[in-house]
Amino acid sequence: MTLRTARCHCGQIELACEGEPRKISMCHCLDCQRRTGSAFSIAVFYARAMVHVERGNPASFERQSASGKPVKFHFCGRCGSNLYWEPERLPDLLGVAAGAFADPNFPAPHQFVWTRDKHGWLDLPDSIAQHEVNPPPRASTT
Ligand SMILES: [Zn+2]
Ligand SMILES: [Zn+2]
Repeated sequence: MTLRTARCHCGQIELACEGEPRKISMCHCLDCQRRTGSAFSIAVFYARAMVHVERGNPASFERQSASGKPVKFHFCGRCGSNLYWEPERLPDLLGVAAGAFADPNFPAPHQFVWTRDKHGWLDLPDSIAQHEVNPPPRASTT
């Protein structure tokens, strides 16, 4: 089984992610812009049971998401990197920050969401599904 390691900037926190992600979502929403300090976030969604904190004790922060359900973010209290988050909207899934894998060969996103907030200079490939806001959650079996 594929095993990938996600790590914060300073290395204090490490996550082991087993198997393949259920979906990969590139999000352009304004909350992700503030959270990452970048123009977008890439969330790698795994089944929650497939992700384990191998090292460190992440701090957490919860807020309402743009879709109205709370999301709990876990980050390194030392270097501030956001590592993973638990959206109540998707109770079977957990999002891991794609950048935390530091892997240029990581699979591409399956979808782009909240493209209405996308920075104007950024061109997205037509081959990947685009959603102006969020698509409805899929059944947990898919
Ligand atoms: Zn850190
Ligand atoms: Zn977002």
